[in-house]
Order: sequence, then structure tokens, then C-alpha cells
Amino acid sequence: MARPRKCRWVEFEPGVTFFKPQGIPMRGLEQVVISVDELEALRLSDYLGLNQEDVAQEMRVSRPTVTRMLARAHRAVAEALVYGKAIKISGGDYQVTLRRFVCLDCEHIWDETGAPGTPKNCPRCQGYAIQRFSR
Ligand SMILES: [Zn+2]
Repeated sequence: MARPRKCRWVEFEPGVTFFKPQGIPMRGLEQVVISVDELEALRLSDYLGLNQEDVAQEMRVSRPTVTRMLARAHRAVAEALVYGKAIKISGGDYQVTLRRFVCLDCEHIWDETGAPGTPKNCPRCQGYAIQRFSR
């Protein structure tokens, strides 16, 4: 029986999906591709500073999978920077998670998609006492 493909959980769909060196026409410009799940691994590991164990837990994959995704993404970014290639963020085997929050003032609970991070206000009472609702 075929092993089902492991779906990686990501918290957001990137708004910007193409980076291009300035002053080089698209024609003749080489590009590297990073998948959406690899970008999420970069965000969690390199930007937020999570260790690979925690990245694996957030994305619901094994730690060796995280190691492989990060190695691929690091190499692609390095290649683009060193050789002046464009970076395209596209594809991957992923599912966007809903992030659940709770307002400590009015106890309203809601789900967010879209940009990562914590929302500023409670959508019901406009309060600021917002916490991530743990799974
Ligand atoms: Zn509220």
C-alpha cells in the first residue's frame, strides 16, 4: 500500500512570492524555487528562533523532515544571493492551519488565517488582552 504523503502545516500563505535582483531583466534571469512549507520552516527556525524539535511539532512533521527542508531552503537562498538569481516561492505539500485566539476580557474565541502573528484587538470587544488558544 502506498504511504500517504505527509502534509506539512503552515500558518500562512506568503503574500510576496517572488524576489528578483534589481536591474536584471527577467529574460536571462535564473531562479531558485522554495516551497511554501520550506519557507515556513525558515520562518519558524531562522526568524522566530525555534529549535528543530519545535519546528517539527508546529508543522506536524518529523525532525529529519525539518532538517531536510531547512537544508534545501538554506541552499536555495544562498544560491540566489551568491549568484544573483531570483527566488520564487511556490508549491509544496502543505495545509494552512487556523490559529485560534482567546480574548481574556470577554472570553471570545476565534480563528485567524492570513498574516502570522497575534491580532491586535479582540474582534468582539476590541480589547487587547489576547492569547493564543493552545491546541
Ligand atoms: Zn474580547
